[in-house]
Amino acid sequence: MSQQILVLGLGHGGLVAALKLREAGFAVTVAEQKSRGTVGWPWYDDIRADLFAACGLPMPPRDCYTNKGKRLFISPDEQNSLRVPSARPMEEISIDRRALLRHLVGLCEAAGVVIRWETKATDLLVENDRVCGAVCGGETVRADLVIDASGLFSPFRAQVPKQFHVQAQPGKTDVMTAWRAFYKWTPGTAAPDPDRNIYIKHQSSVGLSWCNLNDRGEVDVFVGRIGGLTEEEKDAAVAALHKNHAFFSSEVLREGLWGFISLRGPLGMLVADGYCAVGDSAFMTMPMMGSGMECAMQAGSRLAQHIVEHGVTDCSAANLWGWQVWYYRTFGARYVFVDLVKRWVLNIDVDLLNWLFGCGAVTNEDMGLVSTDPDNPNKLTVGKILKKVAIVLKKPAVIRQTAVWMLRAARAKKTALSIPESYDKPKVDAWLRRYDAILGKLAAKGK
Ligand SMILES: Cc1cc2nc3c(=O)[nH]c(=O)nc-3n(C[C@H](O)[C@H](O)[C@H](O)COP(=O)(O)OP(=O)(O)OC[C@H]3O[C@@H](n4cnc5c(N)ncnc54)[C@H](O)[C@@H]3O)c2cc1C
Repeated sequence: MSQQILVLGLGHGGLVAALKLREAGFAVTVAEQKSRGTVGWPWYDDIRADLFAACGLPMPPRDCYTNKGKRLFISPDEQNSLRVPSARPMEEISIDRRALLRHLVGLCEAAGVVIRWETKATDLLVENDRVCGAVCGGETVRADLVIDASGLFSPFRAQVPKQFHVQAQPGKTDVMTAWRAFYKWTPGTAAPDPDRNIYIKHQSSVGLSWCNLNDRGEVDVFVGRIGGLTEEEKDAAVAALHKNHAFFSSEVLREGLWGFISLRGPLGMLVADGYCAVGDSAFMTMPMMGSGMECAMQAGSRLAQHIVEHGVTDCSAANLWGWQVWYYRTFGARYVFVDLVKRWVLNIDVDLLNWLFGCGAVTNEDMGLVSTDPDNPNKLTVGKILKKVAIVLKKPAVIRQTAVWMLRAARAKKTALSIPESYDKPKVDAWLRRYDAILGKLAAKGK
């Protein structure tokens, strides 16, 4: 009998793994709590176009994606801005999220993956400290490997046997509460700058907002805050955006929806005996830079490749470990660095941040460093660093804060990269303690 794979939730990484494993001869079932027509968000989000080739997938139909706009970060006092260098046309795309899921589901179903819609998974089945299935729609489904693709608030991490130290829940500051709605463009107003304007620490908050005219003629309004967003805070932010943008009419195209975006570095332990987490359930995002879909899909593709290439008939933590090492070396270490940089930006004093935007120490070119492109040509040279140091010397407080956070970020990255090559449990546990301590300490401080 072929090996049974059970994917919990219709996450992007789970779907790609499901497809690849099915193509390799595994029997694959996906349990999704929602119905076919309601999964995914009813809007466009950004991903890299070369992601599909990297995962060995066909491109989605041409009519479900457009070129991604440029991003412009605006200082809290709205006096200065920094532009992320634009990618080549169609290198990064904005994709209709529901159409993307339809594309992936279509590929899975054509390959023979069984998708059980409106089937909520509740409990993991655990025997002798090994995950061996789950209860889906009230029915017990046994599996050799359970892939947790159920998103940020996975109820399953907490049920994995304790000896694997899979973290239970993200901390308060690891999540951005977001509200997003679409409005009509006010007729007769000038077309705004086509850049995506992102207001950092909008209204001195710990978060960001945007209000942009997208290339489908919709006014896209977003308010996101770390640690929670009340209805009143959201209304105040929307009112401020409305006042500043003549093209933002009051006529609603799509009512606001609330969502949650993962902001923390990756889950320390991605694998256990019979279990692995992929996508948001493992916090696989470059914090605040989108990339959650891309990272989930790449990780799902590589997970299947690892299982197929290594002939992993026993999906134990030890046998899946090589995939976790690949993840940390390819994405995880870089993402945890960005997590720390993000915490610095959001915790820095508003006046200092305003000064940093305008002083010339950070340039548009530097913004390329926060792009999702691992081969970004904009590298920091010694000459450039010295120039920046000369500017920030005028503000010792900036040097102090920057140095502290950059050292933390560098240490976190170094720790992530020191992941043991092989699954030696005491060594893995020691590495995990070091890694979790870095993120845990910050979360405990509310940072
Ligand atoms: C406003 C907003 C903007 C964003 N912008 C971007 C962007 O530009 N680029 C980007 O890459 N990412 C973006 N993201 C983040 C992105 O949505 C996620 O990172 C991405 O969806 C990856 O998550 P996932 O595929 O792992 O899981 P999800 O997309 O969260 O999917 C999980 C699935 O599991 C199902 N599920 C959950 N629990 C159960 C259960 N118990 N039983 C059965 N099914 C279950 C859910 O119904 C859902 O279908 C944005 C998110 C928001 C909210």
